[in-house]
Amino acid sequence: MRILLVEDDPSVAASVIDGLVNANLEVEHVSTGSDAISKALAQDFDLILLDLGLPDMDGQDVCRSVRETSTTPIIVLSARSEEIDRVLALEFGADDYMVKPFGMRELVARIRAVARRVSPTESGPVAATQNIGALSIDRRSQKVFINGEDVYLTPKEFDLLAYLATDPGAVYRRNDIMNEVWDTNWYGTTKTVDAHVAALRKKLGNQDWIEAVRGVGFRLGDPNS
Ligand code: CA
Repeated sequence: MRILLVEDDPSVAASVIDGLVNANLEVEHVSTGSDAISKALAQDFDLILLDLGLPDMDGQDVCRSVRETSTTPIIVLSARSEEIDRVLALEFGADDYMVKPFGMRELVARIRAVARRVSPTESGPVAATQNIGALSIDRRSQKVFINGEDVYLTPKEFDLLAYLATDPGAVYRRNDIMNEVWDTNWYGTTKTVDAHVAALRKKLGNQDWIEAVRGVGFRLGDPNS
């Protein structure tokens, strides 16, 4: 596993690096928010450890920025122990939160737990995951995540989402959707499509993921882009 450590305090960074290396984890270290964002976007890390008090920006903004384009799990490391800080971090897309000072054994255990949750098949072949903003679609395991959180879909809902995600932004005609997803030509009623679109929108947490194009069909797109 490759981990990006974002921490400006040299002594904390040194001890975390030590602990991770001892646990056979690979680690890269940066000490500013801007370096963190550019590294996280340029390279493929398995997990990010993120300090909140950084010299150039707040870690919460780093978290938000990374989440716009990446689902890499993030564990926030912070001296702030207020509940509101933890809640905010999780709302900004962090996967877990640890209050300093923490023990290395607990940190490594949390890293492994978050990694397992995000990719339950860590030992298997690398999953081909498609990312559209906060949405990740893993066709191999038929799993869908929003901000790294599992979204439970029925098989048909998954098929519909995967079909619309073939070309995000493109409009798919109702009849083509019926053909492809339901393998049938029900030229009269497309209520089934509407019902599944409604269910998907609800589960994705934002109506705007799937836009209805009047008289034509539907299009999938990142509501935050
Ligand atoms: Ca700090």
